[in-house]
Amino acid sequence: MDRRNFWKSVGTAVAMLSMVHCLAGQEARPAERPNILYIMSDDHATNAVSCYGGMLKDIMPTPNIDRLAAEGVRLDNCLVTNSICTPSRAVILTGKYSHNNGVYTLHDDFDRDQQNVAKLLQTGGYNTAIIGKWHLHTEPSGFDYYNVLPGQGKYHDPILKEKGQPWQDHQKGGKEYKGYATDVITDLSLQWLKNRKQDKPFFLMCHHKAPHGLWEYAKRHKHLLESVNMPEPASLFEDKSHRSDGSREYGRNILNLAGRMNGLKRGKEWPTGRLDTTEMNDEQKMKAAYQKYLKDYLRCIAAIDENVGRLLDYLDTEGLTENTLVIYTSDQGMFLGEHSLYDKRWIYEESLKMPFLARYPKEIKPSTINDDIITNADFAETFLDYAGIDIPSDMQGRSFRSNLTGKTTSDWPDAMYYRYWMQFEGSNVPAHYGIRTKRHKLIFYYGLPLGRKGTTPGWITQPGWELYDLKKDPRELNNCYSDPKYAKTVNNLKSRLLKLKEQLEDKDQQYPELMALRKEHWD
Ligand code: CA
Repeated sequence: MDRRNFWKSVGTAVAMLSMVHCLAGQEARPAERPNILYIMSDDHATNAVSCYGGMLKDIMPTPNIDRLAAEGVRLDNCLVTNSICTPSRAVILTGKYSHNNGVYTLHDDFDRDQQNVAKLLQTGGYNTAIIGKWHLHTEPSGFDYYNVLPGQGKYHDPILKEKGQPWQDHQKGGKEYKGYATDVITDLSLQWLKNRKQDKPFFLMCHHKAPHGLWEYAKRHKHLLESVNMPEPASLFEDKSHRSDGSREYGRNILNLAGRMNGLKRGKEWPTGRLDTTEMNDEQKMKAAYQKYLKDYLRCIAAIDENVGRLLDYLDTEGLTENTLVIYTSDQGMFLGEHSLYDKRWIYEESLKMPFLARYPKEIKPSTINDDIITNADFAETFLDYAGIDIPSDMQGRSFRSNLTGKTTSDWPDAMYYRYWMQFEGSNVPAHYGIRTKRHKLIFYYGLPLGRKGTTPGWITQPGWELYDLKKDPRELNNCYSDPKYAKTVNNLKSRLLKLKEQLEDKDQQYPELMALRKEHWD
């Protein structure tokens, strides 16, 4: 083809394309951009989602949540960048790490004037709503509708604050709804879906309070698992001599939980009934508290699973399944007795891993499993990609839309950066940061409060380094930092860690006490 004919044919093709575009435009229905239904629970461990396998899968199946994996994709390396409620939620909304979105700890207020994904979707033509747990202190911004729990919220007869009411104190205010929180949040979500303006695609964040402590289940699940003897994880009684001084003695362990379940909390008995451990030795206490913890926790999950089923049924009934991206995830992971722990906060796998399932039949093949390293800093970018909205250059993650279809670009990150800032004596978890690749994890416990909100001034814990070889030791029971065989790996990971920090603009240089510690303990 000569030049002129080439341009002529290009011209014809362009004309045809614009005709197609025009025709499509005439019939364009808002349904052409996908709806996004984002369901997130609070503290749901991958080990308690049955499609992830694990020892609880037959004891406590989650068939409705699993439907998303069977009809879509399961992420096996979805990792949280700061494993705690408020910070994780801020990362998800902004696509920025804690040090760039300003929410380092549970006690930082979210700056509602900064850019967030709901604002971008809203101005980009989406109907936006958030219902349920919020926990970012300031009034939600970017949502056409919100109805959220003040603070942590209540499990039974929850109070929610609806858009239009004065915001004022984020811990107080709102209206009582009779029933169980997970049911109520789903009822309100369904109500919003039914009454939504149908001229736009929707973005709904349905955020459950469950299964956050103190694990108050619905009355209908009171007898669930009653006669079951829950299997114990291999590391319930972990010998922590392999650990560094930075972590060995710390954490919220099950023995401490036994004490809490036995005693009173603010003058009240434990909400699901006291666990009397007075006659027990420590081992018996651990075992008894573990049984109660797991049963209460899994009963909370039973209600989540039922309610995920209700939302999926609604999409089916309304013919919305094809054109809705549905996600199920949790704000972080959770320890279910592994390393003798409950709670989260740590960089260890159970706390670091988020369950993440996504269904979008137009693009994602059924039963896809993806093990790329994806973080909660990538969520916002991904929503924008599906919505066809430009991703702002100051967002720090990347869209993983194409990863979900099996196409991972060759430059996709093969490591992630983690940082837990909240050096707080009450939770007994030291501040730390680290790098996680598919094979290894290197952790630096610096143990300093650095003047951050919600930390304990003067609570300074021992520094320490840890390295785990996740291929040989997936349960992280052998810290091999000092093993000469790993000397090269350690050096390599240290320089990659510094490079990642630099790329992500997390500057230790602004904390002289941290730099002094690094000088002493880096090599
Ligand atoms: Ca949480």
